[in-house]
Amino acid sequence: MADFGTCESPGCNAPAKLQCPTCIKIGIQGSFFCSQDCFKSNWKSHKIIHSLAKGESVDGKKETAYDPWPFYRFTGKLRPFEQTSKRTVPNHIGRPDYADHPKGYPLSEQAVKGSSQIRVLDDEEIEGMRVACKLGREVLDEAARVCDVDVTTEEIDRVVHEACIEKECYPSPLNYYEFPKSCCTSVNEVICHGIPDKRPLKDGDLCNVDITVYHRGFHGDLNETFLVGNVSEEHKSLVKVTYECLTKAIEIVKPGEKYREIGNVIQKHAQAHGYSVVRSYCGHGIHRLFHTAPNVPHYAKNKAIGVMKPGHCFTIEPMISMGTWRDEMWPDKWTAVTADGQFSAQFEHTLLVNETGCEILTRRRNESGTPHFLDRI
Ligand SMILES: [Zn+2]
Ligand SMILES: [Zn+2]
Repeated sequence: MADFGTCESPGCNAPAKLQCPTCIKIGIQGSFFCSQDCFKSNWKSHKIIHSLAKGESVDGKKETAYDPWPFYRFTGKLRPFEQTSKRTVPNHIGRPDYADHPKGYPLSEQAVKGSSQIRVLDDEEIEGMRVACKLGREVLDEAARVCDVDVTTEEIDRVVHEACIEKECYPSPLNYYEFPKSCCTSVNEVICHGIPDKRPLKDGDLCNVDITVYHRGFHGDLNETFLVGNVSEEHKSLVKVTYECLTKAIEIVKPGEKYREIGNVIQKHAQAHGYSVVRSYCGHGIHRLFHTAPNVPHYAKNKAIGVMKPGHCFTIEPMISMGTWRDEMWPDKWTAVTADGQFSAQFEHTLLVNETGCEILTRRRNESGTPHFLDRI
């Protein structure tokens, strides 16, 4: 049986055995008691956290704070907001296996988990990747157009979801290990895997939008960090250097290069500007599977396995932080934040190794017409 710690009733240090059923229902983590008696005698003060979590009034005072994890110590200033319900994808659009798995398990990925063998794609598969990645780029460009002050990340997710459907794509994050939304929106100290919610973006925020689309059997994956309103010079510099880390890493991609070299290039540039490289999340192979071999760390002196060959498809997606490289996770089990609450930025491309170097499958296309973030730095 799991260890629930001690009873939360004040003064009671007995081992906790049961969790408040209302807390379970509305998703409040923690709230463990030793016995029904302790739970009942504390009911009056305990039930306030239910009201707070639901945004109801407490003692007649209007209370709007949504606080799903009253006992969690946040590392920075960002807070979660309520989420809207899960969106659906029409049945005529092809879906990855995890879309309909009750726990969102990607069984096809799990079947080759642990193998470091890297698939060499044939011409037909390469063409499939080109199309998926081009569509992913178009979806990200639509997100870029709406990402602005006062727009909620939930609204960005809605735009992304509808753009995917319009382009006959399944939004790959949706239900992947039960991820509840169609893209990741990672704001300020969120490193990656932020869940879109009702928080309106504020002037000065950094907002990364990570898009993966699944089209006719192939995934295309990319992300960019957008500046929201007037961003401070120090945060603009973080975004610029992060982008440079990605472009410098892409420059070394060619047949015969070792995957482990990528991290050396990225860390050298980040460190020269006083920044750190996140270690918990890596680039990945991608094609018919969303995440597979190779594993591509972004930090120096890593032990990544494999040598690049024409026909390999993978992502590079450095996450660069102002302060510590250490991360921790919110109790939602997705949102990765910096351990010191300082800002982090990220950029990502999906690449195809060719005979002379690589093709950036998710590259910006001139016709997209969206202003490049670097125009504003
Ligand atoms: Zn991505
Ligand atoms: Zn990725």
